[in-house]
Amino acid sequence: MITFIDSHAHLNDDAFNEDREQVINCCFEAGVKQMVEIACEVPEWQQAFDLCQKYKGQIYAAASIHPINAKQLTDESFENLTKFLSYDNFKAVGEIGLDYFYEDSSPRALQQEVFERQLELAQTIKKPIILHCRQGKDKQDYSAYEDMFFALKKYNLSGGILHCFSGRKEDAYRALDMGFYLGINGIIGYKKNDDIRQIIKQVGLKYLMLETDCPYLPPQSKRGQRNSPVNIPEIAQTLADILGKNINEVADVTTQNAKAFYNI
Ligand SMILES: [Zn+2]
Repeated sequence: MITFIDSHAHLNDDAFNEDREQVINCCFEAGVKQMVEIACEVPEWQQAFDLCQKYKGQIYAAASIHPINAKQLTDESFENLTKFLSYDNFKAVGEIGLDYFYEDSSPRALQQEVFERQLELAQTIKKPIILHCRQGKDKQDYSAYEDMFFALKKYNLSGGILHCFSGRKEDAYRALDMGFYLGINGIIGYKKNDDIRQIIKQVGLKYLMLETDCPYLPPQSKRGQRNSPVNIPEIAQTLADILGKNINEVADVTTQNAKAFYNI
C-alpha cells in the first residue's frame, strides 16, 4: 500500500467535533499514516498535545500564534507557547507569517511584531518554521511576501516550509534559496491556478511536501465540502499528473521530505 504524510492539518477545528476519531481512522486506512496538527491559536496548543498523546508516532504537532490571531500574543501566552514547543512531539513553530488579507482586524505592524518574536523563538529552540503568507485584497500588492522575506533574513533558522504555496515564481525560488520547502495542497487542482501548476513543475518534486490544510481548501472534486487528510492521495495524484510522474514516486519523495523536515 502506498503511504503518505499530511504535513499540515487542523484536526482540532470545530468542523471535526462530531467525528474526529472516525476521520482519523479513515485517514490511516487510506494510507495517510502520519499527520502534523497545526495549532495556531492559544486554546489549540493543549488540544494538539492531547492528540499527539493519543496517537503516538502517528500525529505530531506544530504550535504558534497565527498572524490573524496576532492579538493573542501576551507575555503569558508567549511563555506558554515556549513551553509547548519544548515538548518532543512539537516539531515546528507554525504556522507563522503575514496575512494582509485580514489586516483590518489584525494590523500589519502587530503581525510583523508577532512574526518576529516567533522567528526569534524558532532560532533559539532550533526548530523549523511553517510559513503562512497571504496577499492583501489588492492582488497586485505583494508586500506580504516582501515583508516576510525581509524579516526571515534577520534570523538563523533551522529550515522552513512555505505552506499552501500560492506566490510568484520569485517567491518560490527565494524560499528554495533558503533551503525551504513548498507545501502543496488541493489548490493545485483549481482551474484558475495555471500559474501555480507551472511554478511547481519547474521547482520539482524534491522541494515539495503534501498537505491538506483541512478543514479548508478541499481538492477540486470536493469543492464546497469539508476537507480532511483522507484527500491526500487525491492531491498526490493531481501533483503526479502535473509533474508527469508516478504517484508512488510522489508518495515516496514527499514522505521522505516530511520525515526529514519534521524529524519524525
Ligand atoms: Zn493552516
